[in-house]
Amino acid sequence: MLSSLKLFKLPIKYLTPFSCSSIFGSYGEARDATVRWPHFSVFGPHSWFLEGLQGNSGFCSSSCCSFRVFSSFAVDKGDQKCWSCGASAASFPFLSCDSCRSVQPLDPSINYFDIFGLKKGYDIRDHNLENKYKEWQKKLHPDLVHSKSEREKNYAAEQSLRVIEAYHTLSRPLSRAIYLVRLEGVDFDEEKTISDPDFLVEIMEIRESVEEAVDKEALKQIESEIRVKLGKAQNSYEKAFENRDFEDALTLIRRMTYYERAIEEIEKKL
Ligand SMILES: [Zn+2]
Repeated sequence: MLSSLKLFKLPIKYLTPFSCSSIFGSYGEARDATVRWPHFSVFGPHSWFLEGLQGNSGFCSSSCCSFRVFSSFAVDKGDQKCWSCGASAASFPFLSCDSCRSVQPLDPSINYFDIFGLKKGYDIRDHNLENKYKEWQKKLHPDLVHSKSEREKNYAAEQSLRVIEAYHTLSRPLSRAIYLVRLEGVDFDEEKTISDPDFLVEIMEIRESVEEAVDKEALKQIESEIRVKLGKAQNSYEKAFENRDFEDALTLIRRMTYYERAIEEIEKKL
């Protein structure tokens, strides 16, 4: 089974998602493989992210039952060439060519953090996401390629849309939190209701206090209290994610979701 690894010496464009079980029978086998071939990174669902191999990221971008394996060579700059002029990628991620400015085809294995050159994690405060987003839009915006081929127009439309999605997902703390756990292959069901009794009591109390608020000042006070709770939940989520405690992370996402909705409801009344 592990002999399949020779496939991974192929450039990234030849790699396709494999079923987990078609390559590795178990987590142990996957781990052994990366010990034997330390320049290979294995990413995928079921928390198969192997420590110390986060560079040149690959990840499971499709369904939960498939994953991808990328060698560190696969995403080497030299391996990616511009479809239009043939120049090698000068930077990663390779969304547009630095030589001829052609927009490159969409590569779904590049995750939202890769797009903005960010380390995968919850805290992205110091990384000026908005500026990076604007820089991409200057290079990828469909209006820039209106005189180009249909092929490039399609690439620009897809890349631009994906960068917009990436920006909106990462710029909002809640959607960033959800994206992060999903990137780890963790299933997050947005419809699942809250079952923690303590939290249900807290929700009741917030609801009552909002109903009983006598004026806008009282509502503003409740809102600021909820924002404090939201901030604490976000900090706890960050720690839970770092510790790979995904159960806790999912519970905190539900808290964050509730607090954000409660704040929205209060703001409608203000
Ligand atoms: Zn080019």
